[in-house]
Amino acid sequence: MRLLLKCLRLGRRRRFKLVWQAEQLWHYGHLCLRSLLYNSFTNSDVVLDSLFEPIYWLVDHVTRWFGVVFVALVIGLTSSIVAIVYICLLPLILQTYTPAWICWHLAYGHWNLIMIVFHYYKAITTSPGHPPQAKNDLTGVSICRKCIAPKPARTHHCSICNRCVLKMDHHCPWLNNCVGHYNHRYFFSFCLFMTMGCIYCSISGWEMFRDAYAAIETYYQTPPPTFSFHQRAFHKSVVYLWVLCSSVALALGALTLWHAALITRGETSIERHINRKERQRLQKKGKVFRNPYSYGGWDNWKVFLGVDVPRHWLTRVLLPSPHLPHGTGLSWDLPPCVTQQRTPLLAI
Ligand SMILES: [Zn+2]
Ligand SMILES: [Zn+2]
Repeated sequence: MRLLLKCLRLGRRRRFKLVWQAEQLWHYGHLCLRSLLYNSFTNSDVVLDSLFEPIYWLVDHVTRWFGVVFVALVIGLTSSIVAIVYICLLPLILQTYTPAWICWHLAYGHWNLIMIVFHYYKAITTSPGHPPQAKNDLTGVSICRKCIAPKPARTHHCSICNRCVLKMDHHCPWLNNCVGHYNHRYFFSFCLFMTMGCIYCSISGWEMFRDAYAAIETYYQTPPPTFSFHQRAFHKSVVYLWVLCSSVALALGALTLWHAALITRGETSIERHINRKERQRLQKKGKVFRNPYSYGGWDNWKVFLGVDVPRHWLTRVLLPSPHLPHGTGLSWDLPPCVTQQRTPLLAI
């Protein structure tokens, strides 16, 4: 009997020892795993980002690849419109218009074309600006979770470029480039001059479009009209030009107006969302939000376009100009053309 009790006690002790050892092993494994995965920046956003990482990867790579196709599309469509204007419309203008109107169309058309080509070329080839590699030089206000590097004010990480971009506005697939501190003006000027060019083509080609459209409608009458191949090609080209130009004028015009409103407020597209949230948060506390990068509507435009003296409106806005924007994009001091002194606020 004693021997049986002794055996039972020994078995229970062994079982406890095994459970204890298993518990120790579990705690040790847990500690090892947490030590390996520990990151002071880890929160629910990081976990969600990690789960969605394959989808982001796919979208980023597709967008990067499509960027090249989109740039080719912009160049191809613009070239087709220019070719139609030179081959179909210009001979007609030279034959039928008065000398004053001929001069106007030649001068305005070529000026607009030069402005479009210059700003598009500069927008796709100019780097938007990135924080320097030497991290000690930076007075960063936050840390980029992707680059694990200081992020200056107004800088955001672009997942398509896989880099931090100074004063990032957005990643534009039509430029296959990020829009940031150094090419924001080129991007906006391209949108503006392209819209102006499309409106100009739509207005000046309206009469020709009406005639060409009416002629195309007669193609299927009986007996069919006797249009030559050149005449049919002319009709179709004019309709193509008008439909494409008026559609782009509407779509790009709306985008240009949206960006113009943002520039007037001294915000980028990303800051628009950040500032709106901040405005709502402060409103609940009975406080008023003020954008630290806004110097007032007129001064915001002067800073954006780099207009320091009145003659710059001609040399830097109405003519192609490769001048650099104010500042380095790393810190945001008051630009020299802004006279009104403002108390610096904490950057967001
Ligand atoms: Zn980054
Ligand atoms: Zn980008």
